[in-house]
Amino acid sequence: GYFSFLNNFSHLVLSDPLLKTIEALGFDTPSEIQQQAIPQLLRGDRDFIGLAQTGTGKTAAFGLPLLQQIDPEQAHTQALILAPTRELGQQIAQQMELFSKHISGIRMLAVYGGASIQTQLRTLRKPVHLLIATPGRLIDLMERGAVQLDQLRFVILDEADEMLNFGFKEDIDRILRDSPDSKRTWLFSATLSADLKHIVDSFMDDPFEVRLSRSNKANVNIEH
Ligand code: AMP
Repeated sequence: GYFSFLNNFSHLVLSDPLLKTIEALGFDTPSEIQQQAIPQLLRGDRDFIGLAQTGTGKTAAFGLPLLQQIDPEQAHTQALILAPTRELGQQIAQQMELFSKHISGIRMLAVYGGASIQTQLRTLRKPVHLLIATPGRLIDLMERGAVQLDQLRFVILDEADEMLNFGFKEDIDRILRDSPDSKRTWLFSATLSADLKHIVDSFMDDPFEVRLSRSNKANVNIEH
């Protein structure tokens, strides 16, 4: 029917290299958050709030439109993904590496506490297009002059309420304050606490909001 025709990645205006990867990964139907977020995020012109849990396919929901908008020719940090933990940062980095398989020239790096900062400093001597970071380690690298956020176009806060629970509020405030006003902020969180609402009100401009029901999983068929 009409909906199953629409219900396919090729109708989300993703580029051929990304569609090729999606097919190879065996994703045949976009999840609810992907259907709602991808067309909006590909426009690249508005802040975004996605209230969705892990398991809903949210990484691809922001990762695919992000990769499509990074320009490999511009040798500076264009996008930053903030995550609460080393584990989540690594998972995001793995997925972004997979998604970018057919796109050449995008340099990405995941940085987090508990790993050697010397190694991270060495890798950062050559600029990366996409940085995936825990907030504390990012601040440390900013203070050492190893990371510049002055040309940032996109900031993604993943599991934003978790980051606040881990005590990263001041770090997040600082990162959002010290990056360009013109950047787009895409926030994903399972919940929207009062502290998070405060960040939204302080730093985000007229965000487009998508709210998923709790039980929504990426690998479950979606009812229309
Ligand atoms: P996430 O919620 O981003 O942690 O994703 C949960 C899992 O679902 C990951 O292993 C993804 O690779 C997988 N996934 C994401 N989108 C889809 C999709 N449209 N179809 C099938 N699997 C997906």
